[in-house]
Amino acid sequence: MAVDWGDVTRYGLWTYAVLLTSWLIACIPFEICDRMRWFRRYLTQPKSRPVARGIKEQAFSMVVFNWAWLMPALVMASPILAFWFPDRPCRPSVLRFFVQVVACFLIDDVCFYAYHRALHADRWLFDKFHRPHHVFKAPFGWSSHAVHPVEMLLQSVGALVGPAALGLSLPELWAWLAVRQWQGVLDHIGYDFPFDPIGWVPGVGGTRFHDDHHVHVKTNFASVFSFIDDLMGTRYSPPSSTPAVESLASMQRKT
Ligand SMILES: [Zn+2]
Ligand SMILES: [Zn+2]
Repeated sequence: MAVDWGDVTRYGLWTYAVLLTSWLIACIPFEICDRMRWFRRYLTQPKSRPVARGIKEQAFSMVVFNWAWLMPALVMASPILAFWFPDRPCRPSVLRFFVQVVACFLIDDVCFYAYHRALHADRWLFDKFHRPHHVFKAPFGWSSHAVHPVEMLLQSVGALVGPAALGLSLPELWAWLAVRQWQGVLDHIGYDFPFDPIGWVPGVGGTRFHDDHHVHVKTNFASVFSFIDDLMGTRYSPPSSTPAVESLASMQRKT
């Protein structure tokens, strides 16, 4: 079968360029925050900065490896992407894009919850594919992509199911993927800013929600929508806020 170099360029290389540049643009501001003491007052885990050299090196090698294999993978997947996402011009519409992004996030997060919970439920799966990401007990922006390649693959598939189901065009796919990169980084920045509008949306977790998952690993399996964990009974709640735990703690204090 003849290689369509136009598809390889548009669907493979350009999609890779969109992913990498949007991820870098999302990471850079928080890397700058990490280097400024002033921002430490907003850290979710106050002693987590500066990030230990060994942890950074470990994250760096995982991130570089993932970005290295992603390019040939996208080139090979370009015929499938060309089939799913036609390269047709689309009339920009803020409302339509907003609805598409919300729908894609919902579908993506249901997928994310399912495979993420499965990775935690099975000891072998966890040790093999998910433990590398949980080395980072206090995440930092670019640790978003410090994951096992299998987990990266699962995330990629989850991020494509929604756009394929909704029939997004290639430009719309790129826009969605850029937003998804930004959200993945925001999950890991390690800062709980008082001016975080995403955290104010009901049913949406925000940075602290995923940060809590890195600390309390059997909870908060969703990436965006905390209501999924509420529905599934896996949402993290601080021990002091649970009456049963409070009474248990008081009993333990008495003994
Ligand atoms: Zn994480
Ligand atoms: Zn996890």
